Amino acid sequence: MKQFEPVIGLEVHVELLTKTKLFCRCGTTFGKEPNVQVCPICLGLPGHRPSLNRSAVEYAIKASLALNCEITEYTTFDRKNYFYCDLPKGYQISQFFYPTGTNGYVDINVHGEERRIRVRQIHIEEDTGKLLHQGEIVDSADSEVDFNRAGIPLIEIVTQPDVRSAEEARAFLQKLRTILLYTEISDCKMEEGSMRCDANVSLRPAGTEPLGQKTEVKNMNSFRSVQRGIEYEIDRQEALLQKGLQVAPETRHWDENKGITKAMRSKFLASDYRCFPDPNVIPLFIDKSWVSHIQKELPELPESRFARLVGLGLPAYDAELITSSKELADFYDSAYEHYKDAKALSNWIMGDFMRLLKAGNLGVNESKLTPDNLAGLLSLVDKGTISGKIGKEVFEEMFTSGKKAQEIVSEKGLEQISDSGELEKVIDSIIAAHPGPVEDFRNGKTQTIGFLVGQVMKETRGKANPQAVNQILTEKLQ
Ligand code: ADP
Ligand code: MG
Ligand code: ZN
Repeated sequence: MKQFEPVIGLEVHVELLTKTKLFCRCGTTFGKEPNVQVCPICLGLPGHRPSLNRSAVEYAIKASLALNCEITEYTTFDRKNYFYCDLPKGYQISQFFYPTGTNGYVDINVHGEERRIRVRQIHIEEDTGKLLHQGEIVDSADSEVDFNRAGIPLIEIVTQPDVRSAEEARAFLQKLRTILLYTEISDCKMEEGSMRCDANVSLRPAGTEPLGQKTEVKNMNSFRSVQRGIEYEIDRQEALLQKGLQVAPETRHWDENKGITKAMRSKFLASDYRCFPDPNVIPLFIDKSWVSHIQKELPELPESRFARLVGLGLPAYDAELITSSKELADFYDSAYEHYKDAKALSNWIMGDFMRLLKAGNLGVNESKLTPDNLAGLLSLVDKGTISGKIGKEVFEEMFTSGKKAQEIVSEKGLEQISDSGELEKVIDSIIAAHPGPVEDFRNGKTQTIGFLVGQVMKETRGKANPQAVNQILTEKLQ
């Protein structure tokens, strides 16, 4: 048994997909040239008058409901005071006293074990600007600052210290991202910084309750680095504790290239920020009817969708994969409306469809294949109009051209040949052309029939109905 048990709590920042910022009407587009989405309000110039973005609150409520939180009835927007060069006002506005959501949870499954990670709170806050460093050294003379991001609405999701390993942290984040993508409140792109995760890590002697001293690890920009960063930090703390040394309360920076965490600054205490409600932003009462309206508009979330697909007869593996993305699950559902063989449908979607999407680096809705066209193709295969093999060819063409299966089949004359008269002609010619295998068959080496069927398929360019060929050929040989 391990001597120490890791205890981890996560703080996840997610940028909301509102068109405008939290307190002004500046745009929120990612990747614009620096300092073009700014105004006196988000630059914090003297005399600025912020006014709250209703959509941002609505999105935060939506996320909170999706994560099983209770919604506050009253809230203020509070100034959290600190100085940094990416923070022009000298304070960040955040729901410090009354978070939008509290007491939620996310269930994860790691190696078959169900774990519930409690969400302590979800609050709204503004994003900061961004420092652009020329060199390695933070705060070096050649740093520049871009305020396009300043004032973009974020929610911060804070978990209880319920996570017990780096792997669980990763699974939590992935599940969180899937749920949030379903609600469409954020695009949750870790590589673009619209989803960012800080990890609080501590160790305690295995089997004991009290929490150990934690550090906070920042700057992990992918699921993989979150896992690596936490693993590193656990090992580092373990080595200290085993030597009888103490873990310092500090914020540490994950260095992706070196694969280590480095001390960045000692920990700020909440009281250091001197928080108080911003006198320019009026307190907000959140109406119960507004909340229930938002609740009604929530889409079916991954877990209930998974259960519903399993109910249609899909194996858990398929249902998990298909519900891992809302777009894919929507695609599946629309196709299923027209074609009711749940498993055949998931085979085509998980196989050919996913393969072609991946090869073309495309999103689910970026191919030309529509759900009802896919359903049409599968019906043609079922009816025997085309063979499964030809179906795959037709599929590829539907994927790039957007044509209906029947259209492609007629244009190219791909209908399966089941007509026995037509097949007999081909079969006779194949028998005549291959006396050796025919002889072998008649001498009891019946497996040579496979070769002969293959020749017929080749001759008909895959269009012959293989069952019919098999039957006619057997009769003729016998
Ligand atoms: P701080 O005031 O230092 O930011 P909080 O109590 O606000 O600490 O908690 C911040 C995050 O750290 C939460 O996700 C919480 O679950 C987690 N956390 C708190 N204490 C510990 C600990 N001892 N070990 C690991 N995580 C912790
Ligand atoms: Mg904190
Ligand atoms: Zn602005």
